[in-house]
Amino acid sequence: MKQFLNDRTANLQQGAIRAMFDRIYGRDNIINLGVGEPDFYTPIEIIEADYVALKKGFTHYPPNAGHLDLRDAVSRAPITDILHYDPASEIIITAGAMGALSLIFLGTLVPGDEVIVPDPTWLNYYGLITLPGGVPVSVPTYSENGFKMKAKEIEEYITDRTKIIIVNNPSNPTGAVLDEEDLIGIAEIAKKHDLLVVSDEVYNMLIYDNLRITTIAAIDGMRERTVVVNSFSKTFAMTGWRVGYAMGPAIIIGQIAKILENLYTGVTSSGQQAAKFALSRLDLVDDMRRTYQRKRNILYEGLSEIRGFSLNKPLGALYAFPDISALGISEDEFCLDLLEKKGVVCIPGGAFGSCGKGHIRLSFANSIENLNRALEKIYAYVESSY
Ligand code: PLP
Repeated sequence: MKQFLNDRTANLQQGAIRAMFDRIYGRDNIINLGVGEPDFYTPIEIIEADYVALKKGFTHYPPNAGHLDLRDAVSRAPITDILHYDPASEIIITAGAMGALSLIFLGTLVPGDEVIVPDPTWLNYYGLITLPGGVPVSVPTYSENGFKMKAKEIEEYITDRTKIIIVNNPSNPTGAVLDEEDLIGIAEIAKKHDLLVVSDEVYNMLIYDNLRITTIAAIDGMRERTVVVNSFSKTFAMTGWRVGYAMGPAIIIGQIAKILENLYTGVTSSGQQAAKFALSRLDLVDDMRRTYQRKRNILYEGLSEIRGFSLNKPLGALYAFPDISALGISEDEFCLDLLEKKGVVCIPGGAFGSCGKGHIRLSFANSIENLNRALEKIYAYVESSY
């Protein structure tokens, strides 16, 4: 029989994170530090706002680009509020940040267009870029520079096919946070080579130690060449709700709203109302952020004491990314053996790109008890094995 799948689909690979989860399916006594999502349930107040919206009749098709009152609330969200995006023409509500990214790549890339991606990186960019025929081009980042993507390195990878630079700030998997100076450097390259920047800021409210963060869209001359992507998933522990958004030039937002109309019509109506309510309760985020910071400290301090581990302090997001190469074993073998012997799940860093080799990713979005138990187990495992 004919192969009905097209090559792009037939060649899609299962991500290493999912593969790791398949291994633990049905096993007891596992501590899973591989998960990339908040361990909190969505705050009850947000759930109630959804219920109220449903009872009020938010059960019909939403406008394709999203409810205007939610887009209005989004225009006033922290950090990007200084840009005063016009809710009606410059903001679209999407199925999570992934929904926004897929629309942007579908709407901008033609086969062969290159997209600059930091290495190590969040895995799904590869699939999202290659599905419409784009080519991800990895720019190395190094632990010595806190895994920050540097303008000088980016420039070496620019060709006449480069169309987009992805900025992921704060970063999954490294927890790196780019400061204004880093962003100015990247902005200069984007302007010089006439590139679009897609700025994935899904962790922008999960930053620690009172660090200040800005958006590349706020750098001089960048508003018109940046699409900011964000979502409610990480900030409000709403991963399952699938509500996200993109903000950028009206010409791009207007046209990708038409793609969305043809793909899935719009995002769950009551969920949008719950998301609007969430933005009125930033105190809920402050509570969660304080807890994450405590957990970050526990994981960071615990890992720093393990022989053969060296790591930067994660400044944002939900992950620690230690270098374990001093143990003299590949990170794949380490993760598999640790899972087998101690039941702790970590993700091998090579899954996030070649610069992730020798590292592992551990999430601190877990209970303090589990983090402490996992640290004891990793410590004991390293002491007895290397
Ligand atoms: N961008 C990054 C960097 C992520 O880590 C994730 C989820 O892990 C996403 C986007 C997807 O977010 P959403 O749940 O809003 O689609």
